[in-house]
Parts: sequence; C-alpha cells; structure tokens
Amino acid sequence: MNCYEYLVQKIGVPIAERATGWPVSKYLRELEESQWWSLQQLQELQNEKLRKMIKHAYDTVPYYRELFADNNLHPNDIKTMADLPKLPILTKDTVRANFPDKIASKVFDRRDLIVGKSSGSTGEPLKYYLSKEEKGFKWACLYRYWRWAGYDFGKKYAFITVLTPTAFRGNSVLQWLEHKLSRVLTLQTRDLDADTVADFIRKIRNYKPVMLKANPSTCFYMARYMNEHDIKFELNSCICNAETLDPFVRDYVEERFGCGIYDTYGSEGIETAAQCHPRSGHHIAAEAVITEVVDKDGNPAPMDTEGRLIVTALDKWAMPFIRYDTQDAATMTAEQCSCGRGLPLLSGVKGRIVDMGLSPSGKLLSVYAFTPLFAKVDGIDAWQVIQESTGELSVKIKPTPAFNDEIRKSIQKAIEDYVGSDVTAEIELVEEIPLTPSGKRRFFISKCSSDVL
Ligand SMILES: [Zn+2]
Repeated sequence: MNCYEYLVQKIGVPIAERATGWPVSKYLRELEESQWWSLQQLQELQNEKLRKMIKHAYDTVPYYRELFADNNLHPNDIKTMADLPKLPILTKDTVRANFPDKIASKVFDRRDLIVGKSSGSTGEPLKYYLSKEEKGFKWACLYRYWRWAGYDFGKKYAFITVLTPTAFRGNSVLQWLEHKLSRVLTLQTRDLDADTVADFIRKIRNYKPVMLKANPSTCFYMARYMNEHDIKFELNSCICNAETLDPFVRDYVEERFGCGIYDTYGSEGIETAAQCHPRSGHHIAAEAVITEVVDKDGNPAPMDTEGRLIVTALDKWAMPFIRYDTQDAATMTAEQCSCGRGLPLLSGVKGRIVDMGLSPSGKLLSVYAFTPLFAKVDGIDAWQVIQESTGELSVKIKPTPAFNDEIRKSIQKAIEDYVGSDVTAEIELVEEIPLTPSGKRRFFISKCSSDVL
C-alpha cells in the first residue's frame, strides 16, 4: 500500500462516509469476515435476516400485507429459506404497478431515500428506493468484489460507460471528493467508434489504472481495435458487468488486456454474485441475498440445472424485494470454490445477451446505442431494432395512443443521425414485439453479429 492509498483509506474514506451518509467500511469489515464462514453459518445468518425482513415487509409494506392475506399466510409461516416457495414470485410488472406507495415501506421518509433506476436495456426501466444505509451496504458488497479482483480504495481505475454515470450527481464538492478517493477515470460515450476507442485507449494508457470496469461488448470492441493496431494494456484486472460474458469474448479480451476478467452480476441494486480469483463460478453474496433457481413453472430446479434466478434481498428495507424474478438464467451448484470462501456458488449466470453489430463505417451497434434515443421519446410502449444487414435497420415500434407522425420523424432522424448516412432505418409499427423463449425482451438484434466476432 502506498502513502496515497493509506491516506485515502484512513482519512478520505471516513470523510466521504460522513458526507454521503453511506456507511461502506463498517459493512465491508463485516463482509470481509463473513465470507470465510462455513456454509452452515452463512445459512443461519440468511435465515435470521430473512425472518426480520419478512416481519418488516408484512408490518410496513401494503403490497406484502395483502399478499400474505391473499395466500392465507402469516410471517411465522416463513421461518427459513426453505419456506420461501410458499410465497408467490414477485415480477418486474408487479413492482412497477405498485411503485411507489404500495411496495415501499411506510417507515421511511421518502425525502431521505435515494431513487435507483435499473437500465432499460433488458426491459423498461424499473425504479426502486434505497436508504443511505442500504447504499453503504451495496457499495460494501461491490468493493468486496473489487477486492477479489485486486482493487482497493485509493488505487486508480478506469470506468467506461455508454450510459450516464451514476456517481454523486449534482454536488460538485462530493463529486470532487469521490474522484479523489476512488481515483476513477470516467470515460463516457454514446458513439463507440474507432476514433472514440483510440482516444479511450490513449487516455487509459496515460492514466495507468490497475483496473478497468466496462461492459463485455465495450471491452470486446476495444480489444478488437487493439488487436488491429497491435496495442496491449498492462492492467491487473478488468471487471465486467451487465451482460453475459461469452467465453470467446473473455479469452479474446484477456489476451489483449493482459489480465483476467472478473464478472459481477446484480440487478435492481442487489449485488448478487461475482467471481473471485480462481474464477471458477460466481460467489453469491449470501449475507445480502437468498437465491433460488426455478423451472419454467416456478418450481424449484434441482442443483446443477439451469433455470430462472429468483432473489430475496436481505438488506433492502426501504423497498423489500422478496422472491424477485430477475428474468435471468442461472445454475446453482453445491461445489465449493478452491479459494476457501464459504459463500455458495452459481456455476452459470446468464444476464442480458447483448448482440453486437457493425455499421459499414465500423461503428459498434449495440443496445446501448439505441436505449438513450428511445428514452427521450413519448408515445412508445416497446421497441426493437433489428440489423437485417450491415447497412439496413428494421425498427419495430409498439406505439401508445400518444404516438404521432412527429414522433415517428424525430425517432427516424435520431437513429439516422446516430448510425450515419451509410445505414438506412425503416420504421414499422407493430401490435406486439415477441419476447424470447425465456421471456426476455431483446432491444437490439443483429443478424450480422458474425461479422464482428
Ligand atoms: Zn472463490
């Protein structure tokens, strides 16, 4: 640890925690210890936290109070995680329909809460509340993951985002403090093309971070450019999230970046699982979440069988998520990791599948390119962009009654401005946009992904 890192950890972090009200290091200390507990100890902790969460949800959240009544249940009926299947699965639509009044806890003053918003690239954005305490816990879970990848407070890292960064928006003093503490180089873009990537690579090489954090599709596009121009990075690690990490993409990027990729998985503010150093599976943050894997009918799937991942958050008090359907696929395994941590493993996590395509001029087309274009427009219930051939996009829109010709023209123009004059975009109004067999909505599909890979 160098002098700067020492000062950050001993002085900077406590100041930041006081300024934000997010108690990260308190939770991080606890999590660092409990990760080595036995599975049995962890399960006892999960059950104890679950009983408290169930009582809290029943006592203070109207949605859960009704749900228990409708199912002839009482909080005492849910004593351990084995009792959870007595309760129905909570869907994203149910959360949306009951937000905020029926699904948020009545004991919190909403003015003190932080509103989280999941990104809209696998479905419509979903809003949720977090208290400052919960935000501290969430960050502690994340920092534990990052430590597994060799990062710690005070070290430099680079963060590439094709969506808006979420750190301390709107307060310049806190922004400055956050920047000094985390020493993050944030690289933000909407247009991922050769010029942007060349600029990012130059900045990263000058900055010399130990870690890079980015989506797999962004990393892959960058590694591809580096391969063509014979450039390599010297990183300790790369943290990926938000998308399924394809084994081919992983190998390709690792070779160019000169480091291992650590995949992290979470949804709606729940930092569910991540890979540790042996990277054999994803360790579940058992102190934060109870995971279940169910088959297509919602029944428990056997170990080592892929199914839908259902999560129960153990520290989301402002807005409890009990048996929440992530709509992602995962496989539970009883295998243990060679690192010695008692945290159980998921042997496979499949989050969003992100198609990648290239425009004739070489710009990367992915869901991230299109989400912001549609986010600003009213009158659209659902949308999907299909790259039929390199220079041809088919844009399917399920309109609401508010949709009109002006909206049609503005979305057409936004897409054409974005993709460039070498691509044509054809808008088609449809009544329904079909979901994938696993029930997911894919916002961007490329029929020429093989040109990229
Ligand atoms: Zn491990």
